[in-house]
Amino acid sequence: MTRPSVVLAIGGFDGSGGAGTLADARAIQLNGGYPCTIVTAITAQNTLRVDQIEPVSSDSIRTQLKCLTDDFRIDAIKIGLLPSVDCVETLIECLRTEEFNCPIVLDPVMRATSGGQLADHGAIDRLLHGLVPLATLITPNIDEASKLASRTINNLTDAIAAGNQLVRKGCQNVLVKGGHLEIDKGTDVWCCQAGYEVFEAVKREDGTVRGTGCMLSSAIACYLGHGLSMRDAILSSKTFVSHVISVRHSLGSGTPLTTAGIRIFDP
Ligand code: PLP
Repeated sequence: MTRPSVVLAIGGFDGSGGAGTLADARAIQLNGGYPCTIVTAITAQNTLRVDQIEPVSSDSIRTQLKCLTDDFRIDAIKIGLLPSVDCVETLIECLRTEEFNCPIVLDPVMRATSGGQLADHGAIDRLLHGLVPLATLITPNIDEASKLASRTINNLTDAIAAGNQLVRKGCQNVLVKGGHLEIDKGTDVWCCQAGYEVFEAVKREDGTVRGTGCMLSSAIACYLGHGLSMRDAILSSKTFVSHVISVRHSLGSGTPLTTAGIRIFDP
């Protein structure tokens, strides 16, 4: 009997639904996966700002993961916000002991678009040395790639160099998301051992919506879980994110939210 791919999203809870595990779950469901989630931090956010980030204990993360893996066959994992060193260490330990035999997509979340710092600086360092080597793909934006590779990125050539450098440091695949580049706006670069490929910009209307990074990496995990190649998974997910950006509503007074896949009740 066919079944949906089970995709596990590990990340922060954003009650506004703009980003984090709620956005991950929508992206997974909209791309034919069944979402399971593990919460690493409870955040207080709305469409304007981040007010609080409360990391979840290591014991809770371990227990959430064990409870799900005791029962489900996980087809793909997406990892988002890991707010503290403890949290990164716990996940490294879990991924090593559970020996997941499935693709792992790591979105190395550091800051929110609204400007708030989401992860400790120590956590970012552990991420690079401990977690990145365990991932099938990492999906940093320009700022994150620049921090991970310790180099400035001003243009596409710099983005390619940073991606290649991260591959040399042990990443299997790196997708540097160029959404924030001044030049080459929205162009993404995929780097792996075999070389690199530049993907054209996702078509953006004016402005953006929150959570596009979360949704892109979740969609890629989902497509890898369905068995697509890395290239096809990236391309299908970029098409999905173009759609997500075009369907939005201003439900708060800040950044619009994507409402893709939500059936508007119209009696
Ligand atoms: N909050 C959480 C819990 C996240 O995981 C992320 C990004 O991954 C964000 C906020 C930032 O999202 P955005 O920059 O789209 O607001």
